[in-house]
Amino acid sequence: MKLSSTLKLSVSATIKMNGLALQKKAAGIRVFNLSAGEPMVDCHPSIIEGAERAMREGKTHYPPVAGIPELRQAFSDWMNTTYKTVYTSKNCIVTCGGKFGLYALFQAILDPGDEVVMIAPYWVSYSGITEMFGGVPVVTSTKEENGWRVSREDIERVSTAKTTILVLNNASNPTGTLYTRKQLRSILEFAASKHITVVSDEVYSGLMYDNNEFVSCGSFPEFQENVVVIQSCSKHFAMTGWRVGFVLAPEPVISRLSTIQGQSTTGTSSISQWAALAGVHNARAVIDSVRAPMRERRDVFTKIFNKLFGASILSAPSGLYSFVSLKALGSQETDSMKFALRLLEEGNIATVPGVAFGQEGYLRFSFGAEKEELEAALQALKTFLGSK
Ligand code: GLU
Repeated sequence: MKLSSTLKLSVSATIKMNGLALQKKAAGIRVFNLSAGEPMVDCHPSIIEGAERAMREGKTHYPPVAGIPELRQAFSDWMNTTYKTVYTSKNCIVTCGGKFGLYALFQAILDPGDEVVMIAPYWVSYSGITEMFGGVPVVTSTKEENGWRVSREDIERVSTAKTTILVLNNASNPTGTLYTRKQLRSILEFAASKHITVVSDEVYSGLMYDNNEFVSCGSFPEFQENVVVIQSCSKHFAMTGWRVGFVLAPEPVISRLSTIQGQSTTGTSSISQWAALAGVHNARAVIDSVRAPMRERRDVFTKIFNKLFGASILSAPSGLYSFVSLKALGSQETDSMKFALRLLEEGNIATVPGVAFGQEGYLRFSFGAEKEELEAALQALKTFLGSK
């Protein structure tokens, strides 16, 4: 069979590592799966009830392509009241997870040769999706000692006349790094002056710890024309499997995304959307029911890690991940892919190698798993390293 010769396809490292872990599990092997970022908690009852009600009431037909109006309205309202943004329902489209939102957006924006600036360590799919649409990933690196934070100058340095998109991931996957209003304003000012679209991936905005404040790029009305926000119910609503995400953008962008959805997914599952609506109506309780155990698991992970490995890694300020250098594990290995594959193959512990995030020498652990699982995984890691 003939396959496209122009499509530049790469495998998602998070999906790959999670898939390998699930395969081992299916073969009856005890696997510690700290790969994909998933809050392992039961879905909030209000969400389940929302889905049941939708099915009973026959809401099982095609929904509007851009999403049910109730959800577009409720989610924009939630953003406005929670993060001081200024969206209407017409600025909001419901997508099959934040990931498809990002995919459709890059398809809608990019021409071959357009450059997309991303900040390493960056979420694994930014580069892969860019390349699928003929774009060129341009990476600017950050350092652990600077809190993995990028500056306006770093971005200026790599920007060219071809820069079309700057992807900001606030809060960051994999580091949990957050940006202040002042830092964001400075970056947004630069982007606006060069007509660069800022795509702000904010899917971890509800998972803030230690009183950290989250600032949305959508909360700067002066840059509204230049900013697209990606959001999702997956992480802070613990709805990974329902596939409900959002793009918040100026109306012409939403209209283009809607046309893309009309030719691709036809929209997100109707039942999932009604379930998400029930979740958004209870947002505070739902998010609290996810954030509290995630904070506890983060603390357990950090404490046990430091104790077992004599390390002093810091707790992530937000999100679901601990991004740890191989050195902190006491390992001499520098090739994170080799390390992660061996760790899974021989130690039955699934993680994601730093190189997939554009940062060699590191490993990402998701602390979304239950506490007992985290403890057992770290013990297994200690045993694995001890046997090397
Ligand atoms: N976004 C999550 C992660 O980084 C889920 C997997 C994915 O879609 O990449 O682990």
